[in-house]
Amino acid sequence: MPLHTTEAVVIGSKDLGEADRIVSFYTRDRGKVRAVAEGARRIRSRFVGSLELFAFGKLVYFERPNKSLHKVNEFGLLEPFRALREALELFVQSAYVVELVDLAVEEGEANEELFSLLLQALRLLAQGVDPALLQRAFEIRLLKLLGYLPELRSCVLCRTPLSGAEPLMLSPSQGGLLCQDCRQEGGDGLLISPPSLAFLKGVLRMEFATLARIGLSPEAKAELVQVLRAWLFYFLGRGLRSADFLSRLLLPLEGGGKG
Ligand SMILES: [Zn+2]
Repeated sequence: MPLHTTEAVVIGSKDLGEADRIVSFYTRDRGKVRAVAEGARRIRSRFVGSLELFAFGKLVYFERPNKSLHKVNEFGLLEPFRALREALELFVQSAYVVELVDLAVEEGEANEELFSLLLQALRLLAQGVDPALLQRAFEIRLLKLLGYLPELRSCVLCRTPLSGAEPLMLSPSQGGLLCQDCRQEGGDGLLISPPSLAFLKGVLRMEFATLARIGLSPEAKAELVQVLRAWLFYFLGRGLRSADFLSRLLLPLEGGGKG
């Protein structure tokens, strides 16, 4: 079995047998890779404290040709991202980001830009950037990198350029924005307001790291959750487990806001 060395982020794991663990990695040059860490659940395992969710490190693994399950040889921590695991809410918010990558990509499809985006997202979360803002920005950038970006500049049906000065409808099944004339009743389109649309366009243009300087109203944040989730659901074909958990967790906060 050939040994392969790459940089990787831990994006998930599950127990296997008595003492082993199957770990999902997102790697710089092989995309999503699943590998068995033998003995990882033993107290004296050499993997203790390193193969944790979000951990970024140098992965050495045995590549099993034509198999989807490889074998971890070594994982040397580069950035543990320990802070993301220490508080429950931040943990859940960060788990959403790695789970999105896990669901959105197939095994073995490398995308170095997506790898860099994921790493930047974890760094921004660890630096305390608003997780809601980060998640929405991450979603639209991920959609672009995977080739699912909605058409945001003109009507997908009549091709009229749209300035975004008035609320428009965004339809996953049509592939983007619909003008006032082309908007259909009973379709899958959701309304998107000018500030929300401006945020999406802005995030696609700017350096991801400058996200910390952007502000967005609570109304626009709530709207973008719906719009982007509908889009992701349409293309990924299923809901995200942590998205459900996240909305349940945040329910008391949203309900108890300004009264
Ligand atoms: Zn139109």
